[in-house]
This record gives sequence, C-alpha cells and structure tokens, in this order.
Amino acid sequence: MDRAILHSDANAFYASVEAVLHPELKGRAIAVCGAAENRHGIVLAKSELAKRMGVKTGMANWQAKQLCPGLVIVPPHHDIYAKFSRRLHEIYERYTDRVEGYGLDECWLDVTGCPMSPRAIADELRAVVKKELGITVSVGVSFNKVFAKLGSDMKKPDAVTEIGRDDFRQTVWKLPCSDLLFCGRATTEKLRRLGIVTIGDLANAPRELIVRRLGKNGEMLQKYALGQDDSPVARVGEEETVKSVGHGITCVADLMELEEANVVFVALAQDIGQKLRYLGLQARGIQVTARESDLHFESWQQLLPAPTQCAADLAKAATELLKTRYDWRKPIRALTVSAIHLDSVNAPAQLSLFGGDGKRRKVEGAVDKIREKFGGGAIKPATLLGENKLPEEAPRQSPPPGGI
Ligand SMILES: [Mg+2]
Repeated sequence: MDRAILHSDANAFYASVEAVLHPELKGRAIAVCGAAENRHGIVLAKSELAKRMGVKTGMANWQAKQLCPGLVIVPPHHDIYAKFSRRLHEIYERYTDRVEGYGLDECWLDVTGCPMSPRAIADELRAVVKKELGITVSVGVSFNKVFAKLGSDMKKPDAVTEIGRDDFRQTVWKLPCSDLLFCGRATTEKLRRLGIVTIGDLANAPRELIVRRLGKNGEMLQKYALGQDDSPVARVGEEETVKSVGHGITCVADLMELEEANVVFVALAQDIGQKLRYLGLQARGIQVTARESDLHFESWQQLLPAPTQCAADLAKAATELLKTRYDWRKPIRALTVSAIHLDSVNAPAQLSLFGGDGKRRKVEGAVDKIREKFGGGAIKPATLLGENKLPEEAPRQSPPPGGI
C-alpha cells in the first residue's frame, strides 16, 4: 500500500494565537516583536495582513511600522504558543500515533491504513483545529514527507493541497528548488549557478553533476525532487532524541558590530532557553553560525563552563564566541545560535549545582511561570529593555540604523 502522509502547518502561528488571546486584534495587521516598545526590537512573526503590507521577519520594529502604519506590535508569549502546539498535537493524535513535530507549528502525520481517506482527514483536521483552537492550518497530503510539507505551503490559509504519485511532476516540478525541504539559500544559489532553478530542473539534472558539485546533500535533494523520500514519520514518544535546540534569524540590514549581534543573540537565546526548559534539557556547548551578506557561512562551537538552560548564559556565550572568532571584515546578514551537547537536567553529574547556574535556572523557571500567568510582556531581559541598546543619538547613515 502506498503511504498516506499529511503535513499540517498552522498559518501565521504566533500572530494567530495573539489574535485568539486578544480578539480585538482579529483582522488587523499584527507583528509579534521582541522588545515591542523599543525601536531596536525585531519582528519575530507577522499576521497574513501584515505580510501583505510588506512586513518581514527580522525587520526592525520601526521599519515595520513605517511600511504598515496601522500595525499592532505585541510582545511574544512563548509559553502560550507552546501550549497551543501541545493542543495541536493532541488533536493530531486522535487520528494516528505517528505524529512528528517540526518546530512548534508544523507536524507530519502518517495516516496510512486509516479508515477515512487522507483527504477527508485533512479536511476534518482543518475544521477541528479551527473549532477547538480558533486558528487555521494548511494541510499537504502526499505519499512522502517532503511533498506533504511542500503541499501545506502551496495553498493557505485554511486549505488542503494533494500531491499524488501520478501528478507530482505537473504540480511540483514548476516550483523553485528553494521550496524543497532543506534547500537553503546557499544551496539554491549553487544550483542556480548550474542553471538549475526549478524542482523539475533538479529532478532531470545529471546525477553525477549534482553529486560532484553538491555532494550528499545534493544527492538527497535530487531524490526528493524525484519523489523518492521514504523517511518514516516518527511514532509518538519515539521522536529522535533532540540533539540540538537552535534558533536563527536573517536580518533585514547587515549587522556591523558585536553590540548589534548581541541584541540578536539575546532575542534568540530567549526562545532557546524556554525550549530547553520545556524539554527538560540543558546545554553543555554552544554553536554560532554567521552568514555574511555574500552567502558565505562560518560556524563555531565551544563547550560552556557549566551546563545551562539559562537564556542569559547562552546569549553571553554566543557573544563571547563571536567576539573571539569573527573579525568583522565583512558585515553579518544572518545569525543562528544552537544549544548543543544536550543532556537531561536530571543527569547524574549535575555540575550546574556547583557552577552557579542552579540559582539562575530557578529564577528563569520562575520567570516562565510568571510569563505563563501574566503573558510574555510581563518580564523582559534588561538588554531588550535598553540596557545595552544601540545609541539612538548616533544613527549610522549608511546602511540605515536599526537594521535589526
Ligand atoms: Mg506555520
């Protein structure tokens, strides 16, 4: 029997949850921003309407406001997003025990052999999520994970797209390669230089050329383009052990110096710290990846002095790592921070008790609880409040200030 895989993706997840929390915002252009009251805060997510007005993730608050004067800027409520994410999983698990999350708002479901047709399940999921959670999902239906994910992106919000074994060449091959899972900007650019623009181009390119120029990753992507992805959907509770928790952002304008990078690290570390606490994990190492404006990547890793799940520690370590390794001869366009060498907080060798993290972890745990109770706006790290913010009196002329 051919597999039946669904990929369900919550539409404009953060902004949609905000509209549920604040019904008066429904239908308005919403941007979820770090440091909502600070002009140097950055857009983390936006509603469909804000997107149509040109608001982009990674843009400075003030730029977003300029593009979209009616924009409502709200601070993030990560704990509530995590709760909505859990409730989405609960709904999916009514249909199958093969449910594998991808980020907070995306999930694969293997519904092979279910009594209902995959299309009927997809339509029912849309209706049930809307009724129970007040948000919408787009669902892709296909015979593998890669095409199911592609399908969930093709029509939205609140839609179903089917990609079948007989028609995927017509549906998928005209799309750009960058629509494929794991085909990032650097790979897209490499492919473009080979004259490979669409997924069809990739499917039909000589395999030796792809392997020679793009290695294993290219070979995998070509298989995806040909519909040859047979990776399974993990069973509930059997997800692969989390190896790293990372978060990255592409900035709208280049970062020119360490202080600007620090503002980004503080925002990213918030998410990572919260996710580590949610998963009960701590990091023994950190990885920073910087992409320069010419798409050149560099990545560095370092062990931490003591294991931690504390956002402040992670941001500090990321800043220190970048400080020692990056020479700023070129500005930075994108930054990713990952917590690596993870282990359970209950691991026997709990060095953190002696490493000074115990107290701070307690504090951040308490902060999570307060956020849960009063919303994410109740507490913000000092840096986001302006302690380390860039001097507003001395804006750079070129490129414009507040690019992040
Ligand atoms: Mg989504």
